[in-house]
Amino acid sequence: MNEHPEAPLARLEQVAMEELEGLEPKTVAELDAEADALTPGEIAAAFKASFPTSYLSLPREIPMTVEGFTPVPASSGARIKGVRVDPMPGSGHSDVIDFSTEGISLMQPNRTVIGMRWPELAVALWWSDGRRTLIGPDGSGINIIPAKWRSVESLLAAIRQWVPADRWIPMDEPGTLPRQEGPICAICESTPAIEVTFQDTRSLLMIWFKRVHGVLCRDCGIAKFREVQRRVLVRGWWSIPGLLATPIALLYNTVVYFRFKRLAVPIHSSGITPLPKGRTVWLDPGMLIPAGLALALIWIFWPR
Ligand SMILES: [Zn+2]
Repeated sequence: MNEHPEAPLARLEQVAMEELEGLEPKTVAELDAEADALTPGEIAAAFKASFPTSYLSLPREIPMTVEGFTPVPASSGARIKGVRVDPMPGSGHSDVIDFSTEGISLMQPNRTVIGMRWPELAVALWWSDGRRTLIGPDGSGINIIPAKWRSVESLLAAIRQWVPADRWIPMDEPGTLPRQEGPICAICESTPAIEVTFQDTRSLLMIWFKRVHGVLCRDCGIAKFREVQRRVLVRGWWSIPGLLATPIALLYNTVVYFRFKRLAVPIHSSGITPLPKGRTVWLDPGMLIPAGLALALIWIFWPR
């Protein structure tokens, strides 16, 4: 028998199986000899013996007539109740994605559902072009191509927030990664990022005009804003010039904050987790200080 030119490649799988299962290595000639020696009866008996533990897959148009098989359920997991993401008009599909802080599900038009809870996710594959594939504990997967969904930013943001950090697998070939334009975030290396300066004014009898400068993405920028703003709220006021400089610093930082708010959701091509976002600074206890100062000023200058 002549060997097919690609036969050595096909042997790889056989060799891998021998290695993994501790089987005795066999040459192609030995395997051919074994196959030639088999009788139709032996082959039929082997098939019959394997039936109780077999999966059988048939093309859709072939009617299922073999007995002893039960259909595999097409759905996996439950539909998530939360934010609904609809298909982009003209994207050629009519699936619906739902997500919440619990998990994510995809429902096809035939009502087949693939649902998974965030902590159970086996892996999350990411590409720098924004594509994501989430694979659940039973191997079922949800593919997300951003251009095929409406208002996809909130979905991508939820995926970034809720997929446990150890599940991410970067899928871009090293070197073929499209060189991202513009500056990258100094903390998580994602794009887009902008260069900013926050005013970190502090005073105690005298005043220090400190600054925090850096190139940051939207997520790290908002996190940094909250950190600095909180510090200024508490430490800025305690001198005569501080009473004037602190509101200016707070206002200046707020303008920077809105620059970040307008920035696109970052693409995390590095796998480095951005700074934790933290809570809004406007409800921080530190806000009591300017509120108290304002009340004191009103009390002092109120016409009596
Ligand atoms: Zn960042």
